[in-house]
Amino acid sequence: MKSKMKFIFVTGGVVSSLGKGISAASIGRLLKRRGLNIFSMKLDPYLNIDPGTMSPYQHGEVFVTKDGAETDLDLGHYERIINTSLTKESSVTSGKVYTTVLDKERKGEFLGATIQIIPHITNEIKRRLYDGFNAKGDTDVCIVEIGGTVGDIESLPFFEAIRQLRRELGYENTFFMHNTLVPYLKTSGEIKTKPTQHSVKELTALGIQPDAILLRSEVDIDKGSKKKVALFCNVNDEAVISVKDVDIIYEVALNLQKQHLDDLIVNHLRLDCKNFADMSDWQALIKKIKGIKKEVTVALVGKYVKLHDAYLSVSESLKYAGYVFDTKVNIKWVDSEKLENEDPNIVFENVKGIIVPGGFGTRGTDGKKIAIRYAREHNIPYLGLCLGMQLSLIEIAQDVLGLKDADSTEFNPESTHKIIDYLPDQYKGIKLGGTMRLGEYECKLLPNTKAYNLYKKDLIRERHRHRYEFNNEYKSLFEEKGGVIFSGINPQTNLCEIIELKDHPFFVACQFHPEFQSRPLQAHPLFIGFIEASLK
Ligand code: GLN
Repeated sequence: MKSKMKFIFVTGGVVSSLGKGISAASIGRLLKRRGLNIFSMKLDPYLNIDPGTMSPYQHGEVFVTKDGAETDLDLGHYERIINTSLTKESSVTSGKVYTTVLDKERKGEFLGATIQIIPHITNEIKRRLYDGFNAKGDTDVCIVEIGGTVGDIESLPFFEAIRQLRRELGYENTFFMHNTLVPYLKTSGEIKTKPTQHSVKELTALGIQPDAILLRSEVDIDKGSKKKVALFCNVNDEAVISVKDVDIIYEVALNLQKQHLDDLIVNHLRLDCKNFADMSDWQALIKKIKGIKKEVTVALVGKYVKLHDAYLSVSESLKYAGYVFDTKVNIKWVDSEKLENEDPNIVFENVKGIIVPGGFGTRGTDGKKIAIRYAREHNIPYLGLCLGMQLSLIEIAQDVLGLKDADSTEFNPESTHKIIDYLPDQYKGIKLGGTMRLGEYECKLLPNTKAYNLYKKDLIRERHRHRYEFNNEYKSLFEEKGGVIFSGINPQTNLCEIIELKDHPFFVACQFHPEFQSRPLQAHPLFIGFIEASLK
């Protein structure tokens, strides 16, 4: 444990979806490059315990940490941009905070006290912030993003808790970074700083004086406007930072560095670190992306395709694998439910690869099987993720093995061939929240398989989020009659982790979610293999 805890708190005002998570993660990247260990956290004001039970339409993708927490997709940005892995302590929701406090109340742990927002809820928030700082044991700075917008009723306890935290830890150990939107009026060519002034007023009314203000805008903010914001919002001139819209999100970090935001933070928090963040690898990556000339189109077949954020880590992973081959990966978003009434020859006409990502529930599964059959029969590269593996085995069982009613217990509990099923001991008492196989598990790879050749390792660790498993009773049938190779197996439980087809250029599917471990500069082996095959 470090003796001095240092926190950066990232708040937002004027509108939501400002990209404050990207700014926060970019700061994380810069500080990491100055030799500091960074941990990051997101405080979410909603009352769900976690986003695990929320519709992807409501909340986008559920990001899963190594230790199995189901979290907000912002944590994915943090992991990818900072290049770190986070833990369950990273994700704090009002649901978790209130549940902890109320459970303690029922156990009588408050010794007769009246339980109140202040101090009981705020104390629990602070406890979780301290736990977050200590989670990894080597943290120098913890970056904490507060979800929502200042002034929202539900986020008030979080603001109160961070105000108190400055009192406890001191000015030099806490840095408040407030993000706002600066509208640009095209007709008059002016930017407007008034909403920012109001938002900072709202923040100071809660007892929080920002140390830096980040202005998100379509245009660069000129010096005069920055000075004006500095004067009205009571910060130093150099603490007003322009965050102009960019084409490539990695440019945000470079823009913040140009304006010396990292220096400002390092001085304020009195951090002992390198003088300069070497960002040359990112500069090279941005240059590479800007120079890309090749393109390839792959289809992503899912039922939430209307909201691309529902597949954020998958689409990011495809992008990163594209960088390896100097290629821009275009995604054709295919609605699996609609595909049931369409001609796959037309839908997949110009598509060089097909991917079926994770999902839950029966709706749209027939369309996904149509896509899988099309890839299998037409030798189109296929990558199946989680449900995408389960459905490819069901498709093969129905079409190749002749097990007409083969299915998953999830879709047809009456099936006589439950090739995807609960584990025997899971049959009792299943609740929906937090009861899946979650987080990292080991997987042993079989030599001389596509998986092995891509990972170039015997043993890998990958993250999971699913309830059902392949039923090993059918394994030899798939091997003998289905041309299936079980190329990845969990060494402790013998569960199936990766399958591939013998006589196909690239048909690989996994029970885990490789997309959670991709990084911009370290594309994931399975995605690399998929894109490489799609380019052939
Ligand atoms: N619905 C499937 C299961 O629970 C797959 C889940 C997923 O794709 N993440 O096992």
